[in-house]
This record gives sequence, C-alpha cells and structure tokens, in this order.
Amino acid sequence: MSEVDRLLRPDLRGRTAYGAPQLDVPVCLNTNESSYPVPPVVVHAALEALEGDLAGLNRYPDREFTDLRKALSAYLEKQAGVSVTPEQVWAGNGSNEVLSHVVQAFGGPGRTALGFTPSYSMHPIITETLGTTWVDGLRESETFELTVESAATQASAHDPSVVFLCSPNNPTGTALPFDVIGAVLDAAPNAVVVVDEAYAEFARPGTPSALTLLGDHPRLVVTRTMSKAFAFAGGRLGYLVASAELVDALRLVRLPYHLSTQTQTIARVALEHADLMLSAVEAIKAERDRIVSGLRQLGATPVDSDANFVLFGGLLDEKATWQALLDGGILVRDVGIRHHLRVTAGTLEETTRFLDAMADLAPTHVGALTTPSTVAPTTFETGEDDA
Ligand SMILES: *Cc1c(COP(=O)(O)O)cnc(C)c1O
Repeated sequence: MSEVDRLLRPDLRGRTAYGAPQLDVPVCLNTNESSYPVPPVVVHAALEALEGDLAGLNRYPDREFTDLRKALSAYLEKQAGVSVTPEQVWAGNGSNEVLSHVVQAFGGPGRTALGFTPSYSMHPIITETLGTTWVDGLRESETFELTVESAATQASAHDPSVVFLCSPNNPTGTALPFDVIGAVLDAAPNAVVVVDEAYAEFARPGTPSALTLLGDHPRLVVTRTMSKAFAFAGGRLGYLVASAELVDALRLVRLPYHLSTQTQTIARVALEHADLMLSAVEAIKAERDRIVSGLRQLGATPVDSDANFVLFGGLLDEKATWQALLDGGILVRDVGIRHHLRVTAGTLEETTRFLDAMADLAPTHVGALTTPSTVAPTTFETGEDDA
C-alpha cells in the first residue's frame, strides 16, 4: 500500500475517479451537452457585463447571489409556469454541487440515501464520498421502468434520509410516472426527496414538472441545471428549488462565496437571454426523435426519450460498437448496461453521421438477443459514469 493509500479514507481506497472520456473527436455525443455554441449576442452582452465587474474582483462576490436567484426564479416562472420566490432558489457550480449540499445537510454518516438504478451515476458518488450509505434501488430489469408500487415499497423498506429520483431519467431518457414522486414522499416520511430534472426542458409535451408539487411538500427538492438545454455546461451553473426553510439550511454547509462574481454575472446575462439560449431545444428534440425511429428501423431497441439523448439496446457487443463508432470519429457513451449505448442528440449533421455509421454497422453489430440486459453496479470501478 502506498503512503497516500495508507492515509486515505479506507472507503475511498482503490476507487477510480469520475471519468467520462474527454476526447478530441469530430462528433462528440457522449455527455449530453448542447452541440450549439453560445449565440454571439449573449457573448457580447456577457463581455460587457464582465467589464464592469473585473475591477471589483478585489472584493468577495455576493455570498447570497441575490440577483442571480431573482433571475432564476423569473426564468422558472416563464419556463415552467411555476411561481417561486428567490428565497426558494439555491444555486451552485453545476447541479452536482447543489446535490452535494443536499446530501451534506440531510445525509451524512449513519444515514442512508436511496436511488433507483440505472440512474445518474453521480448520485451514488456524491452520497458515498460524503460518508452516507448508498442503497441501490431496483427498476424493472428489461424496461427500466419504476412503478409507483415498486418505488414506494423500496422507499418504505429502507427508511432513507435522502431519496434521489431523476425525471427524465439519465441514462434511460424517460420521464418518471408523476405519481411516483408523491408515493415516495408518503412512503419515506423521514426523507428529503430530490427530483433531478436536469433535462426538464426537453420533455415531451404534457410532462408535468415536480416544481408544481413544491407548495404541498416542504421535504421536496427539485434540481435543474443550465448545462443541458441551456447550452451552458462550461458556465457551471446548477440550481434547486425547495421550501425557503430547506434552502436556508443549505447555507450551513456551503463554502462561503462558492459562486464567483464572474459565474454570477455570466449566468445572469444568459438567463436574460433565455429564449435565445434555448432556441435549439426544438431542433434537438427533433433529432432525438429521429434517432429513436432511425435506430428502430435498424433493428435496435431505443428507449423513448424525454431528454436530449437516447439509450438504445439490441447490440451484440456494446463495447465493440462503441469502438467502431469512435473509429469513425463519433464518441457515444457506454453507461455500463450490457448490450446498450447512449447517444446525445446533436445537430442535424451530427445525427446524420451517427445514423449513417449505425446503418453501416447494423448487419454485424445489431441482433436479436437471448440474454437479458444486466445493469452494472454503480461503483467507481466501472469508470462508466454519466454526465
Ligand atoms: C448532466 C446531469 C446533471 C448536471 O450536472 P451539472 O453539474 O449541472 O453540469 C445533473 N443530473 C443529471 C441527471 C445529469 O444528467
């Protein structure tokens, strides 16, 4: 054992860090970013706003990010039609950070967090690195569905302090049956229930948001991000909405001044241009639906998606297909589910390149399967985590 290993927390020894490959390839469809650059109008507005800020960087930023919270609550009112006060909004450097604030405040040693696998791999990673016990809840093995009965039974069996739901779910893409949220709140009376809505803006029409439940549920947390539909992954801004009292408790665990002046300013400018920042969403949804129908025609089994990506099964050997696509300059995601890969919906050209490559590969890579898909355990060791 090396000297560092000897000193390291025993539960971290031997683990591998989060590692979605960041490769320089022509068609990058592996981390569900937007393929569309920030529009020039927003770039110029951000530069102008920053100019006024830079001389003031000798001072700490607004610790309570007041203006940004106002901008986020105005955005939610417009996008989701839900009225929330700035005091109900909390933000961090990506929604991963706000998720970690929730676990820091409501999890911890001796407490348990429950999630339903396969789901976002950062949920167990955040949980375990904060010394909280992770419980891998189950979904239906073939369809990855989570029924109301199954979710409630598992939630009540484990009496968790935190429950993670994800809707639309990553990596499967489908929105959760809405009743699951209320059922889990009832079945886990001692839990803060987190609904991770990172992909909410891509959901099919008529998909309700958990934001509409906040008024009745002081233990409910809805997380969102500017990384996906908002085309702002590099800006690192994620946020959550909850009761004002719950949000106030998060101030106990955040590091002071966690959102830099420039982060607050650029995010605020981006939110002022929300329509423009979101202008590619409809085009991305159309490409997503084209991926689903295109893959179905090739004999693969894509899962219906409310997000900007598609999980598809029916691959004889997903690792071979992943490599063959990469050899053709297309990077997709191996999420650790046998016979499956996940692909982000990019531009029309990128989608076409992906579907053309899959058409070439289909005769030797896609086939009828007799073995059921098995879900790899969500551990650090797989190295196949999700963004
Ligand atoms: C991408 C993603 C996030 C976003 O993380 P950020 O830290 O905001 O970039 C959160 N949850 C899920 C399910 C995701 O897929």
